[in-house]
Amino acid sequence: MKEVNILVDRCAFTPRSCARCGTGFHTRGKEYTCAACRKPKLPAAEKPGHTLSFREQQIVALIAEAKANKEIAYNLCLSEGTVKEYLYHIFRKLNVTSRTELALRSVRDGFADRPTA
Ligand SMILES: [Zn+2]
Repeated sequence: MKEVNILVDRCAFTPRSCARCGTGFHTRGKEYTCAACRKPKLPAAEKPGHTLSFREQQIVALIAEAKANKEIAYNLCLSEGTVKEYLYHIFRKLNVTSRTELALRSVRDGFADRPTA
């Protein structure tokens, strides 16, 4: 029994260096990032800014400025259809149902890369 435990202990922790920050750490799983880098996996509702891609944040910023889809499309060199598609994904990610709600959320949570007024 004791021998088995020793064997398990020796094999349990593999030294790795974090794929994200390079910090050395030990794991017994298949993790490629250290505990610190794995930690910020908060629910979407708590950290909305981190769930949006750069492009999505740009769109949210323009929505917050009350821009129409056509203007957003023009600003970001996208088609109107693409903007609508992005919006659909943003709505779902942030759990909002309208662009007004989205604008309010972006101001409140400050995740749209935009100075606070
Ligand atoms: Zn790390």
